[in-house]
Amino acid sequence: MTSECYPLVKTGGLADVAGALPLALQPLGVDTKVLLPAYPGVRDQLTGARKLATLPDLFGGPGGLVSGTTADGLHVLLVDAPHLFARKTGGPYLGPDGLDWPDNHLRFAALSWVGAQIALGEVGTWRPDVVHLHDWQTALTAAYLHTAKAPAPPSLLTIHNLAFQGVFPMALADTLRLPKTAFDYDGLEYWGNLSFLKAGVQWCDRLTTVSPTYAREILTHDQGMGFDGLLRARANTLTGIVNGIDEAVWNPATDPYLASPYSARRLPSKAFDKAALQVELGLHVRTDVPLFCVISRLTTQKGLDLLLDAMPALHARGAQLAVLGNGDAAIQDEFMRLAETHPGQVATTIGYHEPLSHRFQAGADAIIVPSRFEPCGLTQLYGLRYGTLPVVARVGGLADTVIDANEAALRDGVATGFQFSPVDAVQLGMAIDRACTLFADTLAWQRVQKRAMTREVGWGIAAGAYLDQYERLISRR
Ligand code: ADP
Repeated sequence: MTSECYPLVKTGGLADVAGALPLALQPLGVDTKVLLPAYPGVRDQLTGARKLATLPDLFGGPGGLVSGTTADGLHVLLVDAPHLFARKTGGPYLGPDGLDWPDNHLRFAALSWVGAQIALGEVGTWRPDVVHLHDWQTALTAAYLHTAKAPAPPSLLTIHNLAFQGVFPMALADTLRLPKTAFDYDGLEYWGNLSFLKAGVQWCDRLTTVSPTYAREILTHDQGMGFDGLLRARANTLTGIVNGIDEAVWNPATDPYLASPYSARRLPSKAFDKAALQVELGLHVRTDVPLFCVISRLTTQKGLDLLLDAMPALHARGAQLAVLGNGDAAIQDEFMRLAETHPGQVATTIGYHEPLSHRFQAGADAIIVPSRFEPCGLTQLYGLRYGTLPVVARVGGLADTVIDANEAALRDGVATGFQFSPVDAVQLGMAIDRACTLFADTLAWQRVQKRAMTREVGWGIAAGAYLDQYERLISRR
């Protein structure tokens, strides 16, 4: 169950995972159905869409359950509730004013409630052996299953980002179709408010998050974001599984968005993508300086204010920077200003552009990910696949997926990028400087690129690890 799923609807990494994991599980013999809201345009992307059930009272209006299949063969169930999800403007979570939809508690309670009804056999004819919840938007399912009279299938919650907790005023408790006891201290109550995520953390049979390092970090007071006590109490059910990437969508040899396809064996062709990107963005067309890129939500989590402070290090080496992102107005403005004051050297594109993000990955030499915390991170994995070396903060999934190009790693041929710690502008500047130095040694740089591009980043390992979680849950029953 998820609130977004690539290619139907995407705002970030959760969609990539929700779309790719079920496909990776299919060859392992797992029959998966993905439940998500019928946002505008989603149903039109399915083949064989048909109504499975009518739901006359779906948190303020009538709705239904629709099934269909994506072009990739993903089996999808949609919660069709026009009063909650069919909005002409805005996105899955935010209205056109950039603020949360005021009825998000009802929208994601409805999604969670329908998931629970399916799991309990009350809606439709298909019942899952395991219910897999993703993030707070579906975590309330655990509350509906926990308080149900009928026996419920086991459940697993994957936390993609502990910063998003689905916190709402306690005054809304009455609207959620749960008994009063569900809002106690050992239920949804969260520092005087209520938290949807807490339902999942409290009542799911198992918990996973998206990297082993993040799984350890969230048990600490510093990074537990108020949940560390609860998570420590459930630590024996918590596992970190690094996300894979969809290797069909992210493959520089077949990527339809690129000017020139390439692979580890045909690395020189990547230079055409660099030149094409430089032309597209109005940067000076140069091969002798590295082109760094950023593809990111522009928020303090992503540490891009640190990059603004570290720019002197990048300028000192004559390097170029291309930024693609959207988010906080202040950070957007700073990067726009930077592009204006450094024409030909810095280019900023504000917005969300999937095809352009592919051209960034192909055309840049390195991708900067200076996150203050990063549960897993996907852009550094795409960077590895595209031979675009990641320059990353040593936190969470970034620490688990990039091997720093220190002396020993370079000598042993295992380096795949650059890590820095502690996460501040000085250390980021030094990592950028180290990347520039390695870039100047073309052969050494290419060795690291080839190593990065041949690293295993697909879903194979993760899909096996999730299957192991499902089997444990089923065998316990
Ligand atoms: P998060 O989910 O925290 O935003 P991830 O690194 O896990 O970060 O995933 C981000 C995903 O969103 C990646 O697929 C990345 O390519 C994509 N992305 C982020 N910003 C943009 C953008 N402005 N345009 C296109 N794709 C973007």
